[in-house]
Amino acid sequence: MIRLKLWRALALAVFAAALPAHAGEVYQISTISSLLAGGYDGDTTVAELLRHGGFGLGTFNGVDGEMMVLDGRVYRGTIDGRAHAVADSALTPFAVVVVFRPQGSAPVVAGQSLEQLEAALDAPPYSASRVLAARIDGRFRAIAIRSEPKQQPPYRPLPEVIKAQQVVHTFEEVDGTLIGFRFPAATTSVNVPGWHFHFLSADRSRGGHVLGLTTGAGLAWLEECSELRINLPARAPESSAGADAIKAVERPR
Ligand code: ZN
Repeated sequence: MIRLKLWRALALAVFAAALPAHAGEVYQISTISSLLAGGYDGDTTVAELLRHGGFGLGTFNGVDGEMMVLDGRVYRGTIDGRAHAVADSALTPFAVVVVFRPQGSAPVVAGQSLEQLEAALDAPPYSASRVLAARIDGRFRAIAIRSEPKQQPPYRPLPEVIKAQQVVHTFEEVDGTLIGFRFPAATTSVNVPGWHFHFLSADRSRGGHVLGLTTGAGLAWLEECSELRINLPARAPESSAGADAIKAVERPR
């Protein structure tokens, strides 16, 4: 009996390990509209998330900080501007990852604002109607990142939380990596339309959601993704957020 159980466990483990990570597939937990409406508690562990890709961003249950997924490791950006490695058992209500296989690279021009960098990344040949994943390694002359404190139920919608409780830190002359995704307008309720970046410093000690920056020298790597797979939570808010709420949270001005 015990032997049978062991064999079954082994077979499952081998099967799981052999599942092919689909080329050009974006894997996502829940939707941005659900998160913004207060869907802050998911049942997916960081370990499960990493099975679908080692590059991405998101948040943790209770919106307890900003998530950075880089080189197969997961970090939490906290309100003190620091980044911390996260245990495999941590849960996420919203995250997006890819198995990052860039199709091309381009040098980053120094002295660009976030909007100028985004415009540069938007240049052909990549399709404007597909998801783009971008990794930018380099120096940042300045970068403003934010995080937010863990929430307690009953949860308020995320625009209210961000407006009242986000904490912003600005770093100057810092080396690190931008983890970015650009979703097309057609997926507005699914993820953030346009660009969305999180930052992790090269020494992995600082990070969060990017509000603004000035580039230094760097290199951008891009992957165009034609497929999107969404893991929908069993429990989610009945309402959902619209485009205005998404903009208020992701790019508050
Ligand atoms: Zn973010």
